[in-house]
Amino acid sequence: MNPTFTIGRIAGIRISLNWSWLIIFALIVWSLDVSVFPAQNPGLSHATYLIMSVVAAFVFFLSILLHEIGHSIVARRNGMEIEGITLWLFGGVSQFKEKFSSPGSEFRIGIAGPAVSLVLGAIFVGLAVMVNFTTPVDGTLAWLGYINLLLLVFNLLPALPLDGGRVLRSALWKAKGDFAWATRIAAGIGKGFGYLMIGGGVLLFVAYRSASGIWLALIGWFLLSAAGGEVRYLEASQALEGLHVRDLMTRDPVTASADETLGQFMDSLAGRAKHSTYPVVSNGDVLGLLPFRSIAHFPRSDWDSRLVRDSMLGSDQVPVLDTEDSAEDALTELMGGEIHRGLVVHDGGLVGFISISDIGRVLNQRSAFRR
Ligand SMILES: [Zn+2]
Repeated sequence: MNPTFTIGRIAGIRISLNWSWLIIFALIVWSLDVSVFPAQNPGLSHATYLIMSVVAAFVFFLSILLHEIGHSIVARRNGMEIEGITLWLFGGVSQFKEKFSSPGSEFRIGIAGPAVSLVLGAIFVGLAVMVNFTTPVDGTLAWLGYINLLLLVFNLLPALPLDGGRVLRSALWKAKGDFAWATRIAAGIGKGFGYLMIGGGVLLFVAYRSASGIWLALIGWFLLSAAGGEVRYLEASQALEGLHVRDLMTRDPVTASADETLGQFMDSLAGRAKHSTYPVVSNGDVLGLLPFRSIAHFPRSDWDSRLVRDSMLGSDQVPVLDTEDSAEDALTELMGGEIHRGLVVHDGGLVGFISISDIGRVLNQRSAFRR
């Protein structure tokens, strides 16, 4: 099952939701409703608190989205291709398809999101303080101002992969001209903050029975693993330097033809080694990939009535790479795909296929993943 689903496009950028966001949305509404608003604006009715909470949580959601759109628009202006924005447990993540081209562009892209949060926070606080709305509206605006400014401060911590960490890395990268060194320092600080938050969170929970301690520890844990991910990604891209898809792919693979039935295809495989995936072709065109598990998914009695074409993943659903693409780009694409496998084409024709384990093997040989 795919944990994220697309909810729409804004300015051509795909916006997705991770299911975890729905849980967070409910938790935010709940905690605003039972504790934050009753404490901040006592004496209102139950219905009022609930409406304030739903509206506040929804506008908070829009604020995070605008923060990410800020990153994306500046990224696009700096010539980067945007894969999309995913909102999940702890906010938003913008997926970029490639690496930052220069310290300057990483700095501008990194600072764009916090700039949006700053503007939003200032607008909400300004409205709450300067305009005389009714208490529920004022209360909602005040919380939105506070939460956007909190988001701003958190994101500006100089800890990779937070925005502040990107800003720090871009500065270090600029100062010394060494991207790898800058990444290690900024990710190291990220890990440090991660440990601090986990420790602080556990302490808060144990000593004061405070539920915020759990939140803090969770965020710390997220930061710790994401910072580790940045370093592993760096090491992987260093190990893959100079390699291309043509060096890693499986050549001349066994193919399935789109208009044969699963039964015919399985018969044609008889006696040959089984792969986990087969490219699907028709009259020289590459149409998609047929994972073995899609065949196994149907009972044997259906194999003679089901066409390969109706059981495959179309080429719009799987990564399609060129022999000349860099191994690092291939890794990024394959990690983002659902089945971690992709087709390899060149000059319009199928030449092979590649799986993430082909790249993993090389990484192991070059011992990039030291633990
Ligand atoms: Zn951001």
